Amino acid sequence: MSLRVGVIGAGMIGQEHIRRLTTVVTGAEVVAIADLATDRAERLAAATGARAHASGTEVIAHPDVHAVLVTSSGPTHADHVLAAVAAGKPVFCEKPLATAATDCLRIIQAEIAHGRRLVQVGFMRRYDDGYRRLKRLVDAGDIGVPLMVHCAHRNPTVPVSYTSEMAMLDTAIHEVDVLRWLLAEEIVSAQVLTPRPTRRRFEHLQDPQIMLFETAGGVRADVEVFVNCQYGYDIRCEVVGETGAARLPDPARPAVRGDARDSTAVVTDWRERFGDAFDAEIQAWVDAASEGTATGPDAWDGYAATAVGDATVEALKTREIVPVDMEPRPAFYTGAQQ
Ligand code: NAP
Repeated sequence: MSLRVGVIGAGMIGQEHIRRLTTVVTGAEVVAIADLATDRAERLAAATGARAHASGTEVIAHPDVHAVLVTSSGPTHADHVLAAVAAGKPVFCEKPLATAATDCLRIIQAEIAHGRRLVQVGFMRRYDDGYRRLKRLVDAGDIGVPLMVHCAHRNPTVPVSYTSEMAMLDTAIHEVDVLRWLLAEEIVSAQVLTPRPTRRRFEHLQDPQIMLFETAGGVRADVEVFVNCQYGYDIRCEVVGETGAARLPDPARPAVRGDARDSTAVVTDWRERFGDAFDAEIQAWVDAASEGTATGPDAWDGYAATAVGDATVEALKTREIVPVDMEPRPAFYTGAQQ
């Protein structure tokens, strides 16, 4: 029997995941959809053969819903995830797990009380082929002990609603998760440097930013966030170790020769760059949820990313090096990770 999924939040990525669940992933069907815009939920439900519901609470409580996918706005995540865990239903939550670290801790406590993993957080880069190859190489010791990591996250442009804090909370949150996962170490402090701002930005926005992180083992990582770079969606990561350096491969694109040039197209859209990773991520979630559990990035990873995010936002405000305030990791979350 296929996994019967209820979706809460049918905006941009919610619609992407509904399409993915209905046309790409195997073993699942969307049976319930809720969105604040009820007409949108109804339209999507009609198109997919699902039921439209008035609220996320209704979706989670419905006996026909086996598992829950939360793609509503960030501040609503914690309540939906807590309700799903209370109902004993596997739940996929897009990042962030919660906008407050204290809410992440409540989810952790609820999941531990349940006694089995139910929560997967949407850090899809862990399913990207290039990042997985990079991790295998680092884990195998091919470049020796890691010492430094250089990352860049560049978007062509962002809308006027994008704020300086979102450079961390919406954008670099992916790099924070990648750093923790690649290095298998926690981040202990954050600092933010602000270069000359680009003139191609809205006046309220500090862009670009350089975030500097230190891990518990002393690895230093710099993350350039430049969200009005104009030319493309460009994600970079290089790990430098004692005996070598390893770089995230660029997405494979044919080299074109013409007009006396040799050129390769640059990806411009994050959905294209990480499309395969999203597919693999949701398939992994469906497979685990069908067994009544969860895999991949867990509630602890969600908590750690939010805690580092809080320190980084504080560092942007104060221009100081800000220590990350984190609880000790419960034994429940120390098993083998995706
Ligand atoms: P969006 O387009 O604004 O969609 C969110 C949807 O949720 C909207 O339709 C919103 O309705 C609805 N909603 C809000 N509160 C709700 C509630 N209590 N119950 C039911 N529906 C509710 O945002 P988005 O870009 O899809 O982002 C959604 C989440 O996914 C965010 O947390 C974002 O950070 C994350 N995300 C992750 C990635 C990634 O790379 N992994 C990429 C994009 C987004 P209204 O419009 O009426 O408020």
